[in-house]
Amino acid sequence: MNPIAKRIAAITSRVQQLQKEDFYFYLQSIEALNGARVTVKGRGEMLMFASYSYLDLIGHPKIDAAAKAAIDEFSSGTHGVRILAGTIRLHDELEEKIAAFKGTEAAIAFSSGYVTNLATVSSLVGRGDVVICDKLNHASIVDGCLMSRAKFVRFKHNDMADLEKRLAQARPEAGKLVIVDAVFSMDGDIINLPDVSRLSKKYGALLMVDEAHSLGVLGETGHGIEEHFGLENAVDIQMGTLSKTIPSVGGYIAADQDTITYLKHVARAFVFSAALPPAAVAAAKASFEVIEEEPERLAALQRNIMHFLSGLKARGFDTMQSETAIVPIVCGEDEKAWRMAKFAQDEGIFVLPVVPPAVPDGTSRLRANVTAAHSEEDIDYALDVFERAGQAVGVI
Ligand SMILES: *Cc1c(COP(=O)(O)O)cnc(C)c1O
Repeated sequence: MNPIAKRIAAITSRVQQLQKEDFYFYLQSIEALNGARVTVKGRGEMLMFASYSYLDLIGHPKIDAAAKAAIDEFSSGTHGVRILAGTIRLHDELEEKIAAFKGTEAAIAFSSGYVTNLATVSSLVGRGDVVICDKLNHASIVDGCLMSRAKFVRFKHNDMADLEKRLAQARPEAGKLVIVDAVFSMDGDIINLPDVSRLSKKYGALLMVDEAHSLGVLGETGHGIEEHFGLENAVDIQMGTLSKTIPSVGGYIAADQDTITYLKHVARAFVFSAALPPAAVAAAKASFEVIEEEPERLAALQRNIMHFLSGLKARGFDTMQSETAIVPIVCGEDEKAWRMAKFAQDEGIFVLPVVPPAVPDGTSRLRANVTAAHSEEDIDYALDVFERAGQAVGVI
């Protein structure tokens, strides 16, 4: 068989096998929204525990109104790429808002978070440079590093001695870029930013931090990882997405003006791909305002995280080092994660299993996300379901 056809057949048969055993939970279609509850095709109403909408901003009236007004004013699309005819007033306003929110001189918005990492990393470093990543960085960072053709070096997860070793090994004349996630997307733990920043400065490396899961979540007012640690100017290139806490689509880099000017003229995904549509841009801008206007959302999220994490621990679950809205419930073998997911889904909890290669062998898990939309009763119900599932499957 042609190797391409073989590859396609292998995935097809794996998907069909999981569907046959009723262990297939991907691509489920949501038919209606109601806060933390969603109506799922073929399953009815479920309690959502897999959302990235950490502050429950999906459906916020101010954000929806901004999106609708943007369509009335600027319609559904743009005249092409930003650098030529595609920029509208709303793009400039969004970028100013992001820069103000992140405390930088300027910002640039891209058409997705994935594309932001791909475009930014591959624009900043190239042949002869070294890019140093935490081993658990997101796939979009890894892909950007590979695309850049810089020497790609990884250090042990959140291990500062290993990071320093890698920095010391880099050729002194090489351009050095360190990249880390603020909150790791599978484990929910937080990077040791003070030490990463100190080491990056010591070895003359630029530091880029991906805030996909920390924007709106970390820091007393949700401004992210620097606020969480009480640091300023610790990060040179602050990356985030507009598709998680911010209920829109797109990604951004916030940095000094010169870096942003550079990216706006060099980043290929900015120069050669169309501008974000007006409604998405207006929704994103309004969302940053809502985060600042409604601090009670972050307070609710933090209460829920504490309640959920302590409830799982009290029931004997391993939640790794998580202290955020992403909570791994470690199951061990793949089979246990599939069975836990099936039990929870049958009991009306929308939660998904994560298995290798997304996580290391033997650490297959449920990846549960808490949001500000959950009530205390919602979390208690989920804890009860997970407890019964864990006992039935032999995880606790
Ligand atoms: C989701 C995510 C991205 C990609 O963002 P999108 O807006 O979904 O393309 C990048 N980095 C991390 C850590 C993420 O979790």
